[in-house]
Amino acid sequence: MSEGVLSPAARADAVARLEREEVDVLVVGGGITGVGIALDASSRGLSVALIEADDLAAGTSSRSSKLIHGGLRYLEMLEFRLVREALRERRLLLTRLAPHLVRPVEFLFPLKHRGWERPYIGAGLLLYDTWAGRHLPRARHLSHRSALAAAPALRHDSLVGAVQFHDAQEDDALFAVYVARTAAAHGASIVTRARAVDFLRNETGRVVGVRAEDSLAGRPLELRARHTIAAVGVVTDKLLELATGRAQSSLRPSKGVHLIVPRSSIPMRSGLFMRTEKSVFHAIPWRSDYWLLGDTDTEWDGEVDRPVANRSDIEYLLAKVNSVLARPVEPSQIHGVFAGLRPLVAADGTADTTRLSREHRLFSPLPGLTAIAGGKYTTYRVMARDAVDAASVDLGSMARSATERLPLLGAETPSESSDPIRLRHGGCAEEVLQLAEADPVLAAPLPGAGRYIAAEAVHAVTHQGALDLDDILSRRTRTSIEASDRGRAAAAVIAPLVAPAMGWSEARYAEEIERYRRLRDAEEAGEAAPDDAAAGAAYRAVMDG
Ligand SMILES: Cc1cc2nc3c(=O)[nH]c(=O)nc-3n(C[C@H](O)[C@H](O)[C@H](O)COP(=O)(O)OP(=O)(O)OC[C@H]3O[C@@H](n4cnc5c(N)ncnc54)[C@H](O)[C@@H]3O)c2cc1C
Repeated sequence: MSEGVLSPAARADAVARLEREEVDVLVVGGGITGVGIALDASSRGLSVALIEADDLAAGTSSRSSKLIHGGLRYLEMLEFRLVREALRERRLLLTRLAPHLVRPVEFLFPLKHRGWERPYIGAGLLLYDTWAGRHLPRARHLSHRSALAAAPALRHDSLVGAVQFHDAQEDDALFAVYVARTAAAHGASIVTRARAVDFLRNETGRVVGVRAEDSLAGRPLELRARHTIAAVGVVTDKLLELATGRAQSSLRPSKGVHLIVPRSSIPMRSGLFMRTEKSVFHAIPWRSDYWLLGDTDTEWDGEVDRPVANRSDIEYLLAKVNSVLARPVEPSQIHGVFAGLRPLVAADGTADTTRLSREHRLFSPLPGLTAIAGGKYTTYRVMARDAVDAASVDLGSMARSATERLPLLGAETPSESSDPIRLRHGGCAEEVLQLAEADPVLAAPLPGAGRYIAAEAVHAVTHQGALDLDDILSRRTRTSIEASDRGRAAAAVIAPLVAPAMGWSEARYAEEIERYRRLRDAEEAGEAAPDDAAAGAAYRAVMDG
């Protein structure tokens, strides 16, 4: 096994290898599903490459609620198989596969009705805890007084009591990077900034690879593979159309928006889980300094590669949380906003996206090509296994999935550590600390980026596959949603620090800072617009201006 390093040099080597060699499995899409497939296939001994149009997890996989959960609300939808499967994955991730990246999180479920609600919710949580096994504390019933002691932020009349329960959380973008690195350590070639634009076919019509655009080098690539797996989330219909020449409508994208506010704005010990008219609302503790508030669930018919939040999304989320708080969260307290698209599999006759199943689906549109979509972050490993099983039948490979017993890179460090760098990187924290030891400038905190140190920005480039400031500030660190200036100040500090590793001249890094700021300006322009159409137009106007 190599060290699983993703760097500009490793990318260049991977491109050169792919232009030379045919691989067994080519994965298109570097969200959690794609990187999970790359890991599953490479750890079975297959030769594997993955191409991603943008950055690892740049799509939905950096924009989720960041929960590894069974999904309490799916119990009510009677999706028992999905809940059980997700709880099993939660246990595996917490205890064996990624204890350095996945942590328990405590929630308070406020009860609003006397009588029926406590036994009803209690029974659901009993089932949830029973299926989960004994790796997290079981649900506990709280009186009105104990609930308010745990969550003094809540208005006295907003609840009659509560139930406390546990789920788990992770940093979705960083987790995907660690899955990709683990795949690279098993020999997978990982190439970001490479978009599949067409499929290669042989004389029988079988898919034998893809034609891609390398946006870093600005040139086309021809990548040959014995089997291609598309894991492109909400873009699945577009890619299947490209493959088959027929219009597709297998997915119903639904937009989900979250806000980030400082922890001090809501005095509570545990997170909050509330039912809404159609779905659920969470206040989730994020790092030690923030709350993640979300989310919305509305149908999206705009561009699938850049969902934008609008003013109504933000007003809805503030109204939801403020409906139970004694002291409201003010719009001025919002540090960050992000929008993502759920790749929901369409069901005939279901109009409401909140009712659509979170099950995943495999497609075999042509010989040599499998596509997978739907599902949840939590069940990425199962999705990956199913996709590689389908490819293996075509490849005539008998090797079985090994990921159930395969800890991710860095999993050797116990999760009890309170050092923030170890909490973020587990055993790979040594890589960051070595950079900091070699250069005292890198040991210092990054101005404008909360608790991150400068070495983490450089490590993002030298080990974690980041290729620009947005990769570093939005996905390797989460500064773009945590810092109230959305990372604009940090961008100016980071650019010269990472310039040598990126090979950037002074003029180039000035352009990169400008580009980063424009991205944030465009998002903020969208957030001020009243609806999706206006937000999309405002976003594009800034980007094109
Ligand atoms: C608001 C919200 C909250 C959520 N919360 C949770 C949660 O708490 N827990 C949970 O378990 N799940 C959650 N989910 C669901 C979960 O986030 C998704 O199911 C999962 O991230 C989907 O991953 P994916 O890899 O299939 O898709 P994506 O992450 O979208 O990845 C697809 C990738 O394909 C790339 N791509 C597209 N076209 C091409 C091309 N032509 N060539 C190369 N690459 C291409 C894209 O750039 C993208 O990176 C949430 C989803 C949303 C929207």
